[in-house]
Amino acid sequence: MEVWFTEDQTKNLRISIRVKEVLFSGESLFQKVLVMDTFEFGRLLALDNVIQTNIKDEFVYHEMITHVGLNTHPNPKKVLIIGGGDGGAVREIVKHKGVEQVVHVEIDQMVIDVAKKYFPELSIGFKDPRVEILVADGIKHVKDHKNTYDMIIVDSTDPIGPAVGLFSKEFYRDVFESLTEDGLFVAQTETPFFFENVIKEVIASVSEIFPIMRLFQAVVPTYPGGYWAFTMGSKKHDPLSVDMDKLPVMDTKWYSPEIHKSAFVLQPFVQALLKG
Ligand code: SAM
Repeated sequence: MEVWFTEDQTKNLRISIRVKEVLFSGESLFQKVLVMDTFEFGRLLALDNVIQTNIKDEFVYHEMITHVGLNTHPNPKKVLIIGGGDGGAVREIVKHKGVEQVVHVEIDQMVIDVAKKYFPELSIGFKDPRVEILVADGIKHVKDHKNTYDMIIVDSTDPIGPAVGLFSKEFYRDVFESLTEDGLFVAQTETPFFFENVIKEVIASVSEIFPIMRLFQAVVPTYPGGYWAFTMGSKKHDPLSVDMDKLPVMDTKWYSPEIHKSAFVLQPFVQALLKG
C-alpha cells in the first residue's frame, strides 16, 4: 500500500509526498512533530503538518538565511538565531570563523531532540563550542537583550501559533534595539505567490524601523510556490554594496558571491509589492 503525506499549502493548494516510513510522531507543548523518510526528499520534518525541512532541498534555505547577512556585515561576532530548531542554519553560521558566539533560541525542545536524532547532518552545528542553545521564546529574548547582537536570524515557522509575534512591528522594533549599532537581521518571510499580504506588512514595518530594507529570494521546492522570500533590515550595511570580489568562496551548494548579488534581483511582480 502506498502512503502519502499531504500538506495544505493554501486553502486551495496541496502538496503530496510519498512516504517510505514514519520515523517519529509526537505532540509537543507547541505543535505536532512528524519525521518521515520520503522517496523524493529523504528524511523530512513537518510541524503541524507543514513541511519545515528535508534532506534534499534544505541547503538552499539554510545557506540563504545565513550567509547573505553574515557576508553583508563586515565583522559579525555575536549572532542570535530564533527558531531553526532543526539546526541547519546553525550549521551554516559556524562556517564563519570570525563568529565568536551563536545564541540559539528555539521554543520547542522536541524539535531540537528530533533534529539531533533524525537529522544529524543538520544538527551537527550544535556541537560547536561557540553555540549556546536556549529553549525559550525568541520574542521575549530580544526584548530582554538590548544592544547585544551583530546579526539576528529569524528562522521561524509560518505566522501561526508561537510564531505570530515574530512577524509583528513590535518584534522588529525589539530586534532593532537588540542589534548593535551596525547590526542587521534576516527573516524568512514566506512566498510572494500566496502570502503577498504577509510580505507587504513585513516590508512596511521593517522599512519604517530600519534605514535599509531589502528583499531577496531563493528556490525551495517543498515550500509553497517553490519560491521563497527573505527580508533583511540593516542599520548601516547594504547587501547590494558588498564587493563581490571580496566575498569569501564558501563550502556551499546554493550560495555563492554571484548568488549573493542575483538574489536581490526581483521580478516585476515582487517589485510591485515593494512599492506598496
Ligand atoms: N525552515 C523552516 C520553514 O520556513 O518552514 C523553519 C524551520 S524551524 C524548524 C522553525 C522553528 O521555529 C520551529 O522549530 C518552532 O518551534 C520555532 N519557533 C516558532 N515560534 C518561535 C518563537 N516565538 N521563539 C522561538 N522559536 C520559535
